[in-house]
Amino acid sequence: MKNFVFHNPTKLIFGKGTLNHLTEEIPVSTKRVLLVYGGGSIKRNGIYDNVHHLLSEMNIDVFELSGVEPNPRLKTTQKGIDICKNESIDFILAVGGGSTIDCAKAIAAGAKTDHDIWDIVTKKHQVHDALPFGTVLTLAATGSEMNAGSVITNWETNEKYGWGSPATYPTFSILDPTHTYSVPYDQTVYGIVDIMSHALEHYFHHETNTPFQDRMVEGLLKTVIETAPKLLNDLENYDHRATILYCGTMALNGMVNMGYNGDWATHNLEHAVSAVHDIPHGGGLAILFPNWMHHVLDENVDRFKQLATRVFDIDTDGKTDREIAKEGIEALRSFWNSIDAPQRLADYNINEETVELMADKTVKANSTFGGFKTLNRDDSVAIYKSSL
Ligand code: NAP
Ligand code: FE
Repeated sequence: MKNFVFHNPTKLIFGKGTLNHLTEEIPVSTKRVLLVYGGGSIKRNGIYDNVHHLLSEMNIDVFELSGVEPNPRLKTTQKGIDICKNESIDFILAVGGGSTIDCAKAIAAGAKTDHDIWDIVTKKHQVHDALPFGTVLTLAATGSEMNAGSVITNWETNEKYGWGSPATYPTFSILDPTHTYSVPYDQTVYGIVDIMSHALEHYFHHETNTPFQDRMVEGLLKTVIETAPKLLNDLENYDHRATILYCGTMALNGMVNMGYNGDWATHNLEHAVSAVHDIPHGGGLAILFPNWMHHVLDENVDRFKQLATRVFDIDTDGKTDREIAKEGIEALRSFWNSIDAPQRLADYNINEETVELMADKTVKANSTFGGFKTLNRDDSVAIYKSSL
């Protein structure tokens, strides 16, 4: 295990009816709030009205940035930054899924600097300050509600990158599982795949002596695998929504990965697919992850065997380690197939034509990537081709 410092300043407020905490959590000195949200789901399920009601009780002037896209775009981020600067906004409230929260993080950072926000996303400039912001999460998936990361797409250059700073942790996040009741079946699946993918990205590393971390990641995966089919049969089940919501936060808030770094190549590969084709993040991960696994299997067969036996309960009798490991990968694929996750890039009408372009996007910022197995552009091409 490597040395580490763990510091996560986000206050997590979890459970039914917790939206009312807004009035305690937004600083009393706040006069002007920018409310950031997506394409309108919060208007249809009533969260928007409830938030406005609470903000009006606090005598806060509310400005709005609506229409944040899934895979939030640079342009929209810039709109939010302009509002913050022109209207002297003192607090940002993001109400929505990971896209809305990621956009709010970039706005919070951009509002406090004269640097171009794209220079921040591409890490040419570091962020040292940001407007304070809180979140009301409406979709279990990214963990963005309790981490400092943000993923922004530049649709003009077809680039999608993650960035983050200690200044971009939400000050608080309110997670009411009932707020996720209206998430449709397909979006619930994408969230489940993203949560599992975060756990899997952590799991593949070369650090020795991470027994507790391994068990936490395996426990998280097993819990999601047990709960997902029950939730998908009963989308308004409080307990199942709560379990998945909690797993989503825990998968990417730093708790399960202290003392080691994971791989993250599959996220890089997926971001390139989304940057070119604008597909849902979780959909892309479901297609790419098993193919990445087959591609890098020989880097550490034991690690894959451990996943196969501990998470997927693969029977080991009379099989080689490699066979067991491969069965584990196929068990993951079968599980995602069983909940109707996308299986091939063709499901999104993506064919060979854009493979080279997507591969270019995977290596633009740095010529290799992946913490467990270092990959280059040729690897990207191979993994995309096996995913067609
Ligand atoms: P999302 O893009 O925020 O939302 C997806 C869709 O779900 C939207 O159409 C949204 O509609 C809808 N939705 C959200 N809440 C809903 C509700 N309660 N009822 C009905 N519909 C609802 O999805 P996401 O998976 O959370 O975020 C994906 C983005 O996060 C990607 O860009 C991905 O790359 C990024 N990401 C970030 C991190 C991180 O750590 N920061 C990690 C992984 C991925 P409306 O727009 O109408 O609300
Ligand atoms: Fe993700």
